[in-house]
Amino acid sequence: MKLILLGAPGAGKGTAAKMLTGLDGSVQISTGDILRGAVQAQSDLGKQAEAYMKRGDLVPDELIMGIMEKRLQEPDCAKGFLLDGFPRTIPQAEALKKLLAKLGMKLDLAVNIDVPRNVILDRLTTRRTCSNAACQAIYNVKSNPPKREGICDKCGSPVIQREDETEAAISHRLETYNEKTAPLIGFYRKEGLLLTVNATSSEAVVDAIKDKLAL
Ligand code: ADP
Ligand code: ZN
Repeated sequence: MKLILLGAPGAGKGTAAKMLTGLDGSVQISTGDILRGAVQAQSDLGKQAEAYMKRGDLVPDELIMGIMEKRLQEPDCAKGFLLDGFPRTIPQAEALKKLLAKLGMKLDLAVNIDVPRNVILDRLTTRRTCSNAACQAIYNVKSNPPKREGICDKCGSPVIQREDETEAAISHRLETYNEKTAPLIGFYRKEGLLLTVNATSSEAVVDAIKDKLAL
């Protein structure tokens, strides 16, 4: 399947994407994970992206399209992909449309995961992330803590609060979402690709997608 997952930070895009990969071998592509990996490695890309990310600002569209143009041509994408955190702006959505046309690929759906703001705020302040760039497993201090406090179950690295998950950076990320990313809902409605799911459980999100795609 070839899906875009839309939704505010904390809506559960990553969790739903991970569950969907198990269905048919489609790969999850998270621009946030790719960028955090690049920052840790201090690659050229990482150095360019770091300051924007710390502030909770979007990284420039050109950098993101550079990443995605390469990534979508890797062989593992042929089966399908779950785009998590991309596109984030109308120019990215338009560039993606051109890129997919060039690659002869067609999207199945753009899924808008619509979660109430109070739930989002609560999730983001209690979210913790594995500090190992190759793992980046996600935990929640209330609902899904690691078995040993502060240690990743999967790889044993320290589990930390992301630098952009302070109260101030979170409210800035949500503003950025409303201003720059929410307009994509209208964009994909016009394209005839939109599925809106009002669900706070990732299982329900996955079920709605399976129904729609008749899987
Ligand atoms: P979340 O969805 O939880 O906000 P992500 O992990 O998707 O977080 O992204 C973290 C940060 O990486 C964003 O705040 C932004 O700075 C940058 N980023 C990720 N994806 C994009 C994108 N498609 N366009 C611009 N910036 C991006
Ligand atoms: Zn880990």
